[in-house]
Amino acid sequence: KGGGHSYQGTSDAPDSLLVWTRRMNAIALHDAFVGQGCAGQQAPHPAVSVAAGAMWADAYHAVTTQAGRYVQGGGCTSVGVAGLVQSGGFGSFSKNYGTAAAGLLEAEIVTADGAVRIANACTNPDLFWGIKGGGGGSLGVVTRLTLRTRELPEHFGGTSAKIRATSATAFRALIERFVDFYAEHLLNPHWGEQIKLDPDHTLHISMVSQGLDSTQAQAVWQPFFDWVAQSPHDYALVETPSIGSGPARRWWDVAWREQHA
Ligand SMILES: Cc1cc2nc3c(=O)[nH]c(=O)nc-3n(C[C@H](O)[C@H](O)[C@H](O)COP(=O)(O)OP(=O)(O)OC[C@H]3O[C@@H](n4cnc5c(N)ncnc54)[C@H](O)[C@@H]3O)c2cc1C
Repeated sequence: KGGGHSYQGTSDAPDSLLVWTRRMNAIALHDAFVGQGCAGQQAPHPAVSVAAGAMWADAYHAVTTQAGRYVQGGGCTSVGVAGLVQSGGFGSFSKNYGTAAAGLLEAEIVTADGAVRIANACTNPDLFWGIKGGGGGSLGVVTRLTLRTRELPEHFGGTSAKIRATSATAFRALIERFVDFYAEHLLNPHWGEQIKLDPDHTLHISMVSQGLDSTQAQAVWQPFFDWVAQSPHDYALVETPSIGSGPARRWWDVAWREQHA
């Protein structure tokens, strides 16, 4: 058990032996990491080694807030690093950086025979392939993961709004317009996260952006909100659109966010 966020409860089987890694949360950054056995075969990468019990909040704090770099993880900061990487891991900015598992350079794992093994592209490559999405708990107890870090963009941002349609017909038109708008303007490496369609004919937008300042992000959404504003009898803004960006380095900096709320 790492972060304890398994939807299926696979880290909490009754009458089983529980190994809870929570206190194994050491984090170390590397300027030029080369996996064991990879010297001469693989270029060095800036990276971070994260012990199995760390949550994404711990990793983002060390990598982004403290070091000004980026590591691809998940959107929910209390999810465990080990569980998410072993299930692939798709995060808010994955349309630009890929899955969390794609950023895995090396894992340390204790297999069922009691051996501590290193798995990377050069050493135990089959085991490495399996860890990158084969599912938590499938192949052994992972004790450490080393993930690529990337250059941090200048801005991360968020867009939220709630639009309620006054009829089922208007709601269908809104969904159609949004899907077209998404395909044209949001299906690209800048945008991530989600929209929800609520039963009361409400479109709930909750998205994030990377690499766009506030003016650029607002310009992207302008045509969509102009379209909504043209039909005041069909649509009401239940939550006024909020579109903005800030310094990416402060995205997970709780103290900074409290000061600038
Ligand atoms: C609120 C919430 C938000 C989420 N957001 C995202 C998201 O943005 N992107 C995404 O891709 N997924 C997301 N998930 C899914 C999440 O990535 C998976 O459920 C993941 O497996 C949880 O990992 P964990 O360590 O927190 O959970 P745990 O329940 O502790 O572990 C999950 C599985 O991995 C095994 N495991 C844990 N640690 C180890 C280890 N060290 N070695 C071997 N096996 C281990 C456990 O036995 C269990 O089978 C979310 C889940 C929740 C509940």
